[in-house]
Amino acid sequence: MKKIQFFRSGTQILFTSLIAASFLTDLRAFMLIVLLITIFCGPFYCGWICPYGFLQDILGKVAHLLGIKKRRMPLQIQKVIVFSRYAVLALILFSVSDAVFNLMSFDPRANFTRILGREAVSFAALGVIIFFLAVSLVFERPFCNCLCYEGAKHGLLGSLRIFTLKRYESVCINCRKCDDICPMNISVSKIKNLRSPQCINCFECVSSCPVSGALCFGKADMDESGKKRFVASALAALVLVGSFMGYSLFARRDDTASQPPPNVQAVYQNEPSAVAGIADGVYTGEGEGFNGKIVVEVTVSGQNITGVEVVSTRDDYKWFERANSKIPGLIIDSQSADVDIVSGSTYSSIGILDAVKDALQKAKH
Ligand code: SF4
Ligand code: SF4
Repeated sequence: MKKIQFFRSGTQILFTSLIAASFLTDLRAFMLIVLLITIFCGPFYCGWICPYGFLQDILGKVAHLLGIKKRRMPLQIQKVIVFSRYAVLALILFSVSDAVFNLMSFDPRANFTRILGREAVSFAALGVIIFFLAVSLVFERPFCNCLCYEGAKHGLLGSLRIFTLKRYESVCINCRKCDDICPMNISVSKIKNLRSPQCINCFECVSSCPVSGALCFGKADMDESGKKRFVASALAALVLVGSFMGYSLFARRDDTASQPPPNVQAVYQNEPSAVAGIADGVYTGEGEGFNGKIVVEVTVSGQNITGVEVVSTRDDYKWFERANSKIPGLIIDSQSADVDIVSGSTYSSIGILDAVKDALQKAKH
C-alpha cells in the first residue's frame, strides 16, 4: 500500500505545477468535480490537491528525515482545536465585520496559491505562511488541523460520503499505528466506518497498517438508525455548505452581470480627465483581486467614463460586492481611477481600480 503514497505525492506535485503554470485559472468547473467526488468519497482536495497542504506534508517529511520528533496535541487541547476551523468557517459565513475580512487576507493557503501564481503578498502574509510551515516540523498539518476554513467546507461535505475507509475489527491487531501516523489526529483504531470531517483521505493510516485487509476503502456500512442520522445530517450539511459553495462559485457573476449600470453623475470639467484623448468605445482591463484576476469593461463616450462593469472575478461575493457597489460609481463621478478604496474590501477595491487603469492605459495606445 506504500505505492498509494507515491501516487498521492505525484498527484500533489501535478496539481501544484498546474496551479503554478496558471492552467487552473478558472477553478469553477474543476472545483465542482472535486465537490462531487467529496460528497461520494470524502475530501480528496486537502490530501491530494491543495498546494499548501502539500507544502505542510513536505515539511513534515523533512522533519522526519532530520530526526525531529513528531508531537501530538494533548488530548484536552485536541478536543477543543478540532472545532476551531469550523468556528472560523461559521465566522466567515455569518459575519460582515471588516476585522474578519482583514484576517482572511492573512490566509496562508490563499496567499501561497497567490505566490504560485506569481502575485505579490505582504511581508506579514509571508510571515504567516512561514510560521505554519515552521510549526509543521513539529506538528502535522497545523494550519489544516486548526484554522483552514476551506478544509472545513470540504470536511463537512465529505462527512456525507458513501464510500469511506473501513476498519475490520476481526483483522485489526490494535497496534494503533494508524492513530500515530494520522496527520489529522483521528483515532482510526476506534472507528469502524470513518466519517470524521477532519479526514483528508491521505491513506497514511492504510499505508502504515501492518495487517493486510484491516483497513480498506469501500461502501460504508450502516444500520437503520445510522441511516436515519446520516440522511438528516446529509441534508443539513448539503444545504448549508452546498448553497454557500454554489453561491460562491456561480452567483457572483450573475449578480454582477445583472447589476444596473452606475449612474453617470457630475463630471469634473476643470480637472484633466483620465480619458482625455480616448476614442468612444468599450475597453477591457485586468487587475488582481483577493482570489486572483479581476476583469473590467470601461465604457468611454464623449471623452467621459460612462460605465465600469466587472465581467469576471474570483473574489468571494460577500466581500467583493462591498467594493463593486461603490467603486464604479466613484470612478464615474470623479472621472478618475484614483478614488478611495472601500474599507473591509481592500483587495477587491484595488483589483477593480487597477483593472480600470489598465483598460484606460490600453485605450491610449
Ligand atoms: S494499524 Fe491496522 S492493525 Fe493497527 S490498529 Fe490500525 S487498523 Fe488495526
Ligand atoms: S484517517 Fe487515515 S486517511 Fe484520514 S486523515 Fe487520518 S491517516 Fe489520512
